[in-house]
Amino acid sequence: MSGGDAMRILISGASVAGPVLAYWLNRHGFSATLVERAPTLRKTGGHAVDLFRPSLGIVERMGLRRQVLDGEVGTERVTFLLEGAKPIRLDHHRALGVTTDAHVEIMRDDLSEIFYHATREDVEYVFGDSITSIENGRDEVRVTFERGSPRTFDLVIGADGLHSNVRGLVFGEEHRFAHHLGGYVAVATVPDHLGLSAEMITLAGPGRMLALYSPRHLNEARVIFMFRSPDRLDYHYRDTQRQKELLREHFAGVGWETPRLLAELDHAPAFYFDEITQLRLERWSQGRVSLVGDAAYCPGPAVGASTSMAVIGAYVLAGELAAAGGDHTVAFASYEREMTAYVQAARDYAARMVKQVIPGSQAQVWAGAQALRVIGWLPGRLGRALSKRANSTGVHDDVEVKSYADGPHG
Ligand SMILES: Cc1cc2nc3c(=O)[nH]c(=O)nc-3n(C[C@H](O)[C@H](O)[C@H](O)COP(=O)(O)OP(=O)(O)OC[C@H]3O[C@@H](n4cnc5c(N)ncnc54)[C@H](O)[C@@H]3O)c2cc1C
Repeated sequence: MSGGDAMRILISGASVAGPVLAYWLNRHGFSATLVERAPTLRKTGGHAVDLFRPSLGIVERMGLRRQVLDGEVGTERVTFLLEGAKPIRLDHHRALGVTTDAHVEIMRDDLSEIFYHATREDVEYVFGDSITSIENGRDEVRVTFERGSPRTFDLVIGADGLHSNVRGLVFGEEHRFAHHLGGYVAVATVPDHLGLSAEMITLAGPGRMLALYSPRHLNEARVIFMFRSPDRLDYHYRDTQRQKELLREHFAGVGWETPRLLAELDHAPAFYFDEITQLRLERWSQGRVSLVGDAAYCPGPAVGASTSMAVIGAYVLAGELAAAGGDHTVAFASYEREMTAYVQAARDYAARMVKQVIPGSQAQVWAGAQALRVIGWLPGRLGRALSKRANSTGVHDDVEVKSYADGPHG
C-alpha cells in the first residue's frame, strides 16, 4: 500500500522498539508517526544494552550493522571484586562467551540515535508531546495530546517503556501487571576518575553489587548499583534525594571506591533509580491498540537483556501486520503467538539473573567466585554449553525469529 491510502499508525516512544517498529512499518508500506515525550532525542548516554544474535540479524537487514558495531561500548576486561575473595580478572569476550557467541554492547542512546537517523526521512517524529487520551473505536482510534491537536489513526502502538503511558490509558494501572523481582537498580553518570578505558570493575557482596565502566567514546563513566530488597520500598518516583539515600543505606560500609561513588551521586548529571519489575500481561493488544518492547513484556530492567526483545518484538509486529495485509485482528493475535514462548523464557531468565547478579549471601558470593574462575580457564564453547545446560542462558541467542517478506503489504 502506498500514497494516500497507507494505514496510519501512531507509535508512542522513540527509544528502541518505537523507531525499529517505524522502520519496518515504513518498509512494509504503512505510514508511521512517532510521538516522544522527551523534547529531543535523549542524549544522556543511558546505560549499556545488549544485542544478541537474532536482533543483530534484524539490524543487519536494516543495513545498520556497521554503525552498531562502530558504537560498541568497547569493554575489553572485567575485574570482579567479590567481598572475601581475591580479585578475578577476565577477558570480557571470554566472560560473555559463556552466554553468547554473537553479541554487541552499545549505549542505549547511541542505539536509539542510529535507529532515529535510519527513519527520520520517512517517518513523522513529534518530540515533546504525549498522548492524553485514546478512544479505541471500531474503525479508528481518536487520540488527544498534551500539546498537539487531536488526531485519528488506524492503530496505536505503545513503545513507551516499562512505565508505558499507552498501557496505562488502555490496559489499566501498572500495579496490576507489575511483579517485584526482589531488587532495585540505579544508574548514574560519574567522572571517570580511575581512567577505566576498556575495563569494567564489578564489586559484589551479600545483597548488593555495583559495576563501573567508561564507554570508549565518552569521557565519563557510568556506575550501576543493584541491591536486594524482598519488600517494596517506600519512595516517590520523582524524589531522587530519597532514592540516593536508599542507595547510601544499602551500600553503607562497602569498601573500594564506593564512598566516592556515593558522594558523586550529588553531582551526577544523569541519575536513574527503579524497582526491578517484571511485567506480566496476558494480552498485549486490545482492539486497535497494541504494545511492544518494555511496555509490553519488560522481564526486568538490567536483568533481562530486553533490548534484543524490543528489537525482535518490533520486527515481528510490523511483519505480522504486513503479512495480514493490515488486518490488525489477525496480526495482533499472530504477533502474540510468535512472541509468547520467548517472552516466557526471558521472564524466567530475568528472575534467575536477579539472584545471580546480586548474591544473597556470602556463600553465594563464593560460589560466584568459583564459577568465574572456571570461566577463566574453560574454552568459550564448552563454557557456553555448560552454562546453557545449567541456566538456559541461550534465551536471547537461540530464539528463532520468523522471516517476513520485504516490500509493501498486499
Ligand atoms: C538501569 C538499566 C539497565 C539496563 N541494562 C540493560 C542491559 O544491560 N541490556 C539490555 O539489553 N537491556 C538493558 N536494559 C533494558 C533496556 O534499556 C530496555 O529493554 C530497552 O531500552 C527497551 O526499549 P523500549 O524502546 O521498549 O523502551 P525504552 O527504552 O524504555 O523507551 C521508552 C521511550 O518512550 C518514551 N516515553 C515514555 N513515556 C512517554 C509518553 N508518555 N509519551 C511519549 N513517549 C514516552 C521514553 O522517553 C523513551 O524514549 C536496562 C534498563 C535499565 C533501566
